[in-house]
Amino acid sequence: MPTLKENPAEAQIVSHRYMMRSGMIRQSSAGIYSWLPLGLRVLKKIEQIVREEQNFAGCQELLMPTIQPATIWRESGRYEDYGKEMLRITDRHEREMLYGPTNEELITEIFRGSVRTYKDLPKLLYHIQWKFRDEVRPRFGVMRGREFLMKDTYSFDLNFDGAKKTYNKMFVAYLRTFARMGLRVIPMAADSGPIGGDMSHEFLILADTGESEVFCHKDILSFDLPKDNIDYNEDFQPIVDKWTELYAATDEKHNLSQESLLAEDLVSARGIEVGHIFYFGTKYSKAMNALISSPSGQEIPVEMGSYGIGISRLVAGIIEASHDDDGIIWPESVAPFDIGIINLSSGNESCDSACEDLYFRLENAGLDVLYDERDERAGVKFANMDLIGLPWQIIAGPRGIKNGVIELKNRATGEKDEMTLNSVLNKFARI
Ligand code: ATP
Ligand code: MG
Repeated sequence: MPTLKENPAEAQIVSHRYMMRSGMIRQSSAGIYSWLPLGLRVLKKIEQIVREEQNFAGCQELLMPTIQPATIWRESGRYEDYGKEMLRITDRHEREMLYGPTNEELITEIFRGSVRTYKDLPKLLYHIQWKFRDEVRPRFGVMRGREFLMKDTYSFDLNFDGAKKTYNKMFVAYLRTFARMGLRVIPMAADSGPIGGDMSHEFLILADTGESEVFCHKDILSFDLPKDNIDYNEDFQPIVDKWTELYAATDEKHNLSQESLLAEDLVSARGIEVGHIFYFGTKYSKAMNALISSPSGQEIPVEMGSYGIGISRLVAGIIEASHDDDGIIWPESVAPFDIGIINLSSGNESCDSACEDLYFRLENAGLDVLYDERDERAGVKFANMDLIGLPWQIIAGPRGIKNGVIELKNRATGEKDEMTLNSVLNKFARI
């Protein structure tokens, strides 16, 4: 955890500053980062929440490569269209390759080679893999990187009705996924390109530093999230209707007439796009000949959609949504460690042994514990612990330890409680 005292000059937004200062990431080249141990823990926690919710919704995980052949992108017609954002590579045999910016072509190729009949539908396949887009202006750290981690799901259905059910399922899965990260997201109507229709939504969190300008009805900000024990066989149309009937749009889709219509009810703010769900029908299946036999025996192109979540962008997005002047305030579900122990008197025998004992007992209870046993001034340790933003801090000093007590600090509220060692163990062993 190579922490920095000073704000790096290039970091313009708070998440980038805190990620650099707490030693979560280091830049390798423009828009390309190494994930240091602390940052990697958060990335993995977010990835796991996304994975669990995708699996729960009936999606199956696979893993496609980062490097793809140009041939399939020529089939879809996107090899030329994609332009300079695509990183193109030539191998030793002069074959044209590329570093995948997304995977519609590759998944369609896999699908057409393996699935032939409607009996195997619907199918939802996803992977969590690094993407590369040679963005014109990579900036704000991992918020807009060139190399970034994305979860992308692809759906295959027999007809529009099936595709709509699948779309609604993903809509609800996304609400649940972001809620588990402590985020309030707003689904907003997004551009659906030449396909048209209303089945394209971006999921945004509000933040002053967001790159998108957004407009929505103020009531959406206080909507309840779908209940915990959801059944994915249910009809989700009522939930989707509820979330989409009030106005919510990004600047690309914004309708100026709504401003006078909604008047006082209109919230205009900035937002960070953390996910995008998109129905595109037979765009790729037609171009790439991904046909299935229908119940009547006809060969028809399969109906598709894609569903992305910016996993690495979320790390920064969560910090934008949850921090104070001292540093990050991690929601418990994505925190790199659950608890940090600050030993105020490293080298003092009773302090050391009490801290080590607590460390091992909490770890044994299944918690992730960070133990600061460095020989540093108390002020430095306090500042570092606040900066990295673990939900709980245990502060142990020689005077307290003599009486068998420590101080427990809640990072979010700042509240401090003096507690016996045993009551600390009881509190957390139950989490
Ligand atoms: P943007 O409008 O921000 O460029 P996009 O519309 O190109 O995003 P998608 O192709 O829908 O994005 O990708 C799915 C998700 O991947 C996005 O919702 C976003 O969270 C994330 N993402 C896209 N581009 C980047 C990037 N350059 N760096 C980090 N995350 C990204
Ligand atoms: Mg983009």
